[in-house]
Amino acid sequence: MVKDVTALISQMTLEEKASLCSGLDFWHLKGIERLGIPSVMVTDGPHGLRKQANDADHLGIYDSVPATCFPSAVGLASTWNRELVERVGKALGNEAQAEKVAALLGPGVNIKRSPLCGRNFEYFSEDPYLSSEMAIAHINGVQSQGVGTSLKHFAVNNQEYRRMTVDAVVDERTLREIYLASFENTVKKAQPWTVMCSYNKVNGEFASQHKRLLTDILRDEWGFDGLVVSDWGAVDERVKGLQAGLDLEMPSSYGNGDNKIVEAVKNGSLSEDVLNHAVERIVTFILKYINNANIDATYDKEEHHTLAREVAAESVVLLKNENQILPLLRKGTISIIGALAKTPRYQGGGSSHVNPTKIDDIIGEIRKSASNNVNVLFALGYELDSDAINEDLVKQARDVAEQSDAVVLFVGLPDRYESEGYDREHLRIPENQKNLIEQLAEMHDNLVVVLNNGAPIEMPWLKQVKAVLEGYLGGQAFGGAIAKILFGDVNPSGKLAESFPVKLSDNPSHLNFPGDRDTVEYREGIFVGYRYYDTKEIDPLFPFGYGLSYTNFEYSDLRISSDTITDVEAVYVSLKVKNVGNIRGKDVVQLYVRDVESNVTRPLKELVGFDKVSLEPGEEKTVTFHLDKRAFAYYSVELNDWHVETGEFRVLIGQSSRDIKLEGSIFVESTVPIVNKIHRNTTVGDIMANPILAPVAMQFLKSMMEDSPLSATQKEGNANEMFDAMLKHMPLRAIVNFSMGAFTEKMLENIIDTLNSMLDTE
Ligand code: BGC
Repeated sequence: MVKDVTALISQMTLEEKASLCSGLDFWHLKGIERLGIPSVMVTDGPHGLRKQANDADHLGIYDSVPATCFPSAVGLASTWNRELVERVGKALGNEAQAEKVAALLGPGVNIKRSPLCGRNFEYFSEDPYLSSEMAIAHINGVQSQGVGTSLKHFAVNNQEYRRMTVDAVVDERTLREIYLASFENTVKKAQPWTVMCSYNKVNGEFASQHKRLLTDILRDEWGFDGLVVSDWGAVDERVKGLQAGLDLEMPSSYGNGDNKIVEAVKNGSLSEDVLNHAVERIVTFILKYINNANIDATYDKEEHHTLAREVAAESVVLLKNENQILPLLRKGTISIIGALAKTPRYQGGGSSHVNPTKIDDIIGEIRKSASNNVNVLFALGYELDSDAINEDLVKQARDVAEQSDAVVLFVGLPDRYESEGYDREHLRIPENQKNLIEQLAEMHDNLVVVLNNGAPIEMPWLKQVKAVLEGYLGGQAFGGAIAKILFGDVNPSGKLAESFPVKLSDNPSHLNFPGDRDTVEYREGIFVGYRYYDTKEIDPLFPFGYGLSYTNFEYSDLRISSDTITDVEAVYVSLKVKNVGNIRGKDVVQLYVRDVESNVTRPLKELVGFDKVSLEPGEEKTVTFHLDKRAFAYYSVELNDWHVETGEFRVLIGQSSRDIKLEGSIFVESTVPIVNKIHRNTTVGDIMANPILAPVAMQFLKSMMEDSPLSATQKEGNANEMFDAMLKHMPLRAIVNFSMGAFTEKMLENIIDTLNSMLDTE
C-alpha cells in the first residue's frame, strides 16, 4: 500500500489531523479508517518484545506475549561485537514482524553517569562512542526487517530519581561531547524511524517541549527525518510540544491533547503548517511499516534461543582468574551454590520486562555441560527476598562446599535492588550474600563467583576469591551460556562497557547525584567514567574495556598511514593481533586518542575506535581503523562546532583504558583557526597562538621590548623564561602600564587595528 502522504493530509479535517497526534490506547497509534490509514502498534523493548495483549502498563506489571529475552543492553554492550548485536536486532525485528508490531521502543543510549541509576542495565555504556556503535548495530538489525525503532530517551535522562520532573543542568560542551554524542552518531548513521524524548527537563525545559533539542539539533543539525514520540506520559504542554517538534503523544491522552491542538489552530496560536508536518511524519511512519509488513512472518523460537545463548556467552566478562582456576576441569565434585542459580535474575524490572519463551535452568545446564564424570551438588545458601543471614542455609552451603573440588557461587542483585523507576542508594550486594562469599572463601580455596547484576557493585571480598565472572542480566539462555564458559566450551571475550569503581564515592558524579529536589547539576562535566578515573589517576576496581580471556593476545606493528594530516583529512591506523595461547579466542582491540597539548581541558584519553577479532591459536590478523576529524575533536562552544586544535595527538592501542599496549603519534593541523576579534584585553599568548597574527605580533613585541625598560629586567639570569610565561597571559593593555611610558595608548590602538585588519582580510 503505497500512498501519497500529502494527498492524504489534504483530505483530513483539522480534528482528524489532531487526533493522529496522540495514541489510541497504551500501545496503538490511531488510524483514519475512511482514508485507509490503519492503527499500528508499538511495544517495548530493547532486548525483547513486550507486547501486551490485554491489560497494559508501562511499568512491567502485566504479562506480555512470550518473546525471546536477550541479554539486556549492558550485556549486549559488553560483547563489543557489532555484528552480533546486529543479529540480535534482526531477531527482534523478526519477532516484531511476527507479532504485527510497527516499532520497538528502544534502544536506549543514555550515558551511565552514575553506577546508581536504576536503569543502567537498559543502557549500553558510560562512553558515547561505544553506546552509539552498539545502538547503530541494534537499529540496523531491527530496521532491516521492516520494523522501526525508537531511540531513547532523548535526552540527558541519567537517573530515575524524580525522572518526570528533574531538571538536568549541563553545560554545552558536556552536553555535546557526552550526553548528546551517543544520540548524534546513532541518528546520523542509523536513522532510527523514531526518537523518544525523555521525561526530564534539560537546562530548564522539558525534553518533550524543547525546541532546541527536538528541532534545532535533532532535525536541523543531525538530519533526523523520522517521528518524535513522547516517553509514556512525558507531555507537559501539548501545543508547546508540537511547536517544539514533538509529533506524537503516547499513550492516549483521551482527547485532551487533541482538543488543545484543535483549539490552538482555531485561535491562531498554532500554525496549521506545524500540525501538518507532524501529521506527515506520523502517517509516513505508519505507511512505512505497512508497506514493509510481512503478514506471514513467523520466527523459530529455538533458533532465537540459541542466538540468545551465543550473545549471553559473549557478554560474560571474566574479571579475575587466579591460577587459571577457570575453565573448570571435568572431574571430581563441583558445588553450585546460591539462590540466584535456582531462580536466575536474567533481566531487569520495568518497561523492558519480557515474558520469555523459555528459561535455561542454570543448575541443569551446568550438570549437562559437566558430563557424567563430574558430581554436581547444589545448595541455596541465602534467600533472595531478604537480606537476613539464614544460618541453616549457610551451614548447608558449607557442607556442600566441603565435599567439593571447586565451588561456583552465584550472587548479585535481587530484583528489588535495581529497576526502572528508582535508583540504587549504594553499590553493595545483600548482606546475606556477602557473608556467604566470605564464609565460603575462608574454608575453600577454589571459589568461583558468578555475578548477576545490571550495574557495578563493590567487591570488598575480591581478594579472597579465585575467580569472578560478571554475567550481568544475561537473558533467558544465560544458564547454557554460563555453563559453556565455566567449562571452557566458550572462551570469555566480554569487556566492561563501564568502569567499576572501588567505592561509590570515587565516582565523579558522587557529590551531585541525584541532585537536590528537582535540580541535578552535572558538575563533573565531561569527566564521566574512565574519562575521570584515568585523568584524575584514581584506580578503579576494574577499568573500562577490561576483561580477561582463557588465552592471551599480543599486539605489534602499529602503523599510522600519515604523520601529519589536516582536520579535513582522514588517517588509517593498523596493527597486528596474535593469539599466543593454546585455544581459540576473541579479543577487543581498543583505540584511544590523547590530545598532547591543548588550550581546553580534555580527558587523558577517549575511545575513538574498537574492533572484535576472533583468532585460532597462533593466528594473527591485521586490524585497521579509520580516523577522521571527529576522533581528535572537542566541542568548541565558541565555534558552535566540533574543533581540532593544531598539535600532536597520541594514538593508543589497548586492551582496556588502563592497559595500553602500543603507542604512536600523529600531528593534526586545523584548517579552522578560532578567530576572535582582538581587543585591549586579548592576551599576548592568544595572539601568538594564531598563525596569521603571530609573525606580526612577534615583530611588534620585539621592537617594543627593545625600547622598553622591561627589556633590562628580561636580560637578567633565567628571567627570560619567567618573563615569557608572564607575558603569555598578559592582556595587551597591561603592556601600556608596564612599559613605563614607552608604549602608549595610541600605539596600542594602532596595533589592535592592524591585527584586526589582518583577520578581516583572511
Ligand atoms: C519508559 C520507556 C518505555 C515506555 C513504554 C516508560 O515508562 O521510560 O522506556 O518505552 O514507558 O513502556
